[in-house]
Amino acid sequence: MDIHEYQAKEILARFDVPVPRGGLAYSPEQASYRCTEIGGSAWVVKAQVHAGGRGAAGGVKICYSDHEVQDVANSMFGRRLVTKQSAPRGKLIYRVYVEEATDIARELYFGIVLDRRIERVCIIASTEGGMEIEELATSKPEALIRTTIEPAVGFLEFQAREIAFALGLPPTLTAQATRVFRRAYRAFRDLEATMLEINPLVVTTKGSLVAVDAKMSFDDNALFRHLEISELRDRSQEDARESHAADRGLAYVGLDGNIGCMINGAGLAMATMDMIKLAGGEPANFLDIGGGASPERVLKAFRAVLHDKNVETMLINIFAGINRCDWVAQGIIDAFKQLEVKIPVVVRLAGTHVEEGQAMLRDSGLPIITADSLADAAQKAVAVVGSVSAG
Ligand code: GDP
Ligand code: MN
Repeated sequence: MDIHEYQAKEILARFDVPVPRGGLAYSPEQASYRCTEIGGSAWVVKAQVHAGGRGAAGGVKICYSDHEVQDVANSMFGRRLVTKQSAPRGKLIYRVYVEEATDIARELYFGIVLDRRIERVCIIASTEGGMEIEELATSKPEALIRTTIEPAVGFLEFQAREIAFALGLPPTLTAQATRVFRRAYRAFRDLEATMLEINPLVVTTKGSLVAVDAKMSFDDNALFRHLEISELRDRSQEDARESHAADRGLAYVGLDGNIGCMINGAGLAMATMDMIKLAGGEPANFLDIGGGASPERVLKAFRAVLHDKNVETMLINIFAGINRCDWVAQGIIDAFKQLEVKIPVVVRLAGTHVEEGQAMLRDSGLPIITADSLADAAQKAVAVVGSVSAG
C-alpha cells in the first residue's frame, strides 16, 4: 500500500527525521492560509498523488506570495496529474501540501528497499538526488551506493557513517547524516515498510539535512498489525478495479488489455497470461480465485472482471485440484442469471468433478464457448475478441 508524501513526512518526523514545516490543504483558501501559518517568504505547493515525477509534470511549484500559492493550488485541484510514473489516466489531485521552501545546496538520494533476490533490506544512496532511481540505475549505475542490512544485527552505525563518507558529506554533517539514515531505517523497520525513499534528501545552504520529498510503501500482508498505517489508505489513488476486488478478498491485478481472466492459482494465471500473449491477445487482468472457491466466490470474481469496461471477452481457466469444477460451473451459471453478461465467455475446465461441471454448462443452454486445453482456450479467446473488436 502506498501513502502520500505528507503522510510519509509525518511518519519521518515522528522518527525525528527533519522535514520542512508544512500543512495540508483541501482548498485554495486553505493553501493560502497555510502560508500565514508557516511564515517566511517562499513556499512550495505540492500535489499529493500516489506517483513520483510530479516536479516534471507541474505538480511541484515554488511560490513567492500567498496569492500565488492560492492560484497555483487553484489550478491543481480537480486535475489529473499525469507523470512518468502514473498510469496514462493520471491521478486525481484533491489535496495539496504547502511547505516552507528549502534553500538547497545539494540534492542527495536516500532509499530503503527490499532486495528480493538476496532476501535482504538494502539501502541505496547517491549524490545524484532529484533524479529517478530507475533512471539512475540504468544511466549511471556507478553512482549508486549500496549497503545490505543483515537482519540479525540491523543497520549499524559504521554502515551509516560509510554512506555519509561515500556521499562526500563534510565531517560537520557526518553525525547528523548517520542519525538521519538510521532513524529512517527505524521507521521502515518498525512499520514494516517495503520501500522508503527520500529524494531529494537535501543539504541546505545553512548546512543541515532535510527530507524535501518522501515516499513510503507498506507490506499489505503486515497491515493487520498497523492500524494507523491502514488508515492512511487513499482509494482515490488506486486502480478502481483492484480496490473493488481487494474489498471482496480476491487477488486481482489490473492490466491494459481486453481479455478478462478468471483463473485458479497464481502459477496457472501467469501461464494463461503467457498463452494469451502467445496467441496474439492482451489480458485485461490477473485474477486468482484461489482454492476451494464456492459458486458465490466465482460469481464475485465474475463481477470483478466485468467491472472493467475494457473487457471484451472473458477467459475462465480452471485446473481443479482443491477446487471443484461443478462449483465453478454453478458460479458461472449464476453469473449469467444475475449479471448482464454481454460478452463472449470461453471456459476451460479440468480436474476434480470435471464431467459434472462440463455437463452443467452444456445443459444450461448458455452461449458458453468451451475449450479443452489451455492453448485452445487462449486461441479461442483471442479469436473471439478479434471478431468482437472488428464487428
Ligand atoms: P517529485 O518530482 O514527485 O519527486 O517531487 P519532489 O518533491 O522531489 O520535487 C521535485 C524537485 O523540485 C526536487 O528535486 C527539487 O529540485 C525541487 N524542489 C522541491 N521542493 C523544493 C524546495 O523547497 N526548494 C527548492 N529550491 N526546490 C525544491
Ligand atoms: Mn522526489
